[in-house]
Amino acid sequence: MSDAPQTGVPDQYGVAGHPVSHSWSPFIHGMFAKATSQRIVYRLFDIAPAVFRRETLRLFAGDLRGLNVTLPHKLAAAELVQELSPRAARAGAVNTIVRRDDSTLFGDNTDGIGLLSDLEGNLQLDLTQKRVLILGAGGAVRGVLAPLLERDLAAIVIANRTSSRAAQLAADFADLGNVRGCAFHEVEGPPFDLIVNGTAANLGGEMPEMPVGLVDENTVCYDMAYGHGHTPFTLWAKSLHAARACKGWGMLVEQAAAAFALWRGIRPETAPVLEALIHHR
Ligand code: NDP
Repeated sequence: MSDAPQTGVPDQYGVAGHPVSHSWSPFIHGMFAKATSQRIVYRLFDIAPAVFRRETLRLFAGDLRGLNVTLPHKLAAAELVQELSPRAARAGAVNTIVRRDDSTLFGDNTDGIGLLSDLEGNLQLDLTQKRVLILGAGGAVRGVLAPLLERDLAAIVIANRTSSRAAQLAADFADLGNVRGCAFHEVEGPPFDLIVNGTAANLGGEMPEMPVGLVDENTVCYDMAYGHGHTPFTLWAKSLHAARACKGWGMLVEQAAAAFALWRGIRPETAPVLEALIHHR
């Protein structure tokens, strides 16, 4: 939380990723700052994995007060900070770094609250006893598993291109509920209640090839990726007559609001920002 007076040089924030030019985070945090009268600057930092640690520490040694971290750096960010929140420690992944007044770096993970706030709050889904399939086993999926498993689900299946990563992730969270990992081709029906795409395949315009029988007219399909028009995943969901095919705009805005609250001590309203992103961009 910042107690800086709202005059003088604005406080510096940003998002580090690779690539990162597609990010809407500057727009979102700009709207939050305006709505809450916070003077901040929010920048994009395209940082290659090989120099992530060095560059991020260099930015924090300068004026940077907080950083969002996106793919592929969330696991590296968890290694870099001096202290982790319990949920970031559980995930082993950090999407928000706070520089404290004593210059130590604190890592948190707001992806889980972001996804759950969108599913339950904005989309009004009841997850109790639902069967959930998650595609992907990277930093974003690590962040959402614990909050999902807290919801008394019937089961989670994690499927990933590299199946050993899915199996490892499932093992890491097995104490929280019924979760198993496998390769894409090993996923079996009956159709799931909820399918979440947490792969980065969309960035290359791809959709992993999935077995038949996973989607029916009651299945909600949620792509963590966001963009205008359909994604390969939402097209796949539509072609199989899923109940809904949603993109990750709500998760994006909700995780950003939680990060903003960590930095500034004020929780901004998300609805106007979501509305602006979905209808006016
Ligand atoms: P990571 O780099 O940590 O993980 C990437 C994942 O995607 C891995 O499971 C990887 O599989 C898989 N993958 C990459 N390319 C392909 C491909 N061509 N086919 C199949 N699988 C592939 O990324 P993140 O977890 O940080 O992000 C994943 C996605 O989630 C991104 O699209 C990101 O934009 C989105 N996201 C959205 C958020 C939101 O707020 N809406 C928040 C966080 C993320 P493997 O293990 O085999 O390499």
